[in-house]
Amino acid sequence: MTDQQRPASSQVTQAQQATRAYPHPIAPGFADFFAGLADHRLRVRLCTRCSAIQWPPRLWCANCGGDDFGGADIDGRGVVHTFTVVHRGFDAWFSSRVPYGIVVADLGRGIRLTGNYLGDDLERLRCGLPVRARYETMDGRTYLGWAPAQMAWHTPGRTS
Ligand SMILES: [Zn+2]
Repeated sequence: MTDQQRPASSQVTQAQQATRAYPHPIAPGFADFFAGLADHRLRVRLCTRCSAIQWPPRLWCANCGGDDFGGADIDGRGVVHTFTVVHRGFDAWFSSRVPYGIVVADLGRGIRLTGNYLGDDLERLRCGLPVRARYETMDGRTYLGWAPAQMAWHTPGRTS
């Protein structure tokens, strides 16, 4: 190994040892959501007075002004509302994984959730792509991601 190779090897080691960033501290309104991810469920706030979904969580119900909330599991299917493909990382963990996609999925009823794109082909990522929630667990935490609803998804008219 030459001296010029050592920095690259050192960077790989740093990336492998790096941990993924996680929201900290988690705002109280989001605690149930993150706890649900650990069970592979999408859990949102529901107003106990009028049953309106409160997403993102608020102190008061936007529909009736109530301040008492419960939780509701929602279906993990949606469509890509918008996305980006990241080619440069500013953190050791993320920079070791570029390029990667970040998706904002629209689940309807005013619910949009962000997560990494977990499909096998970034070229397929597009707005309107049907996606399903997928869960990645690492370092004792579970993260939300989005994969094509049908992994064998094909563009009509495309041959490859
Ligand atoms: Zn309400």
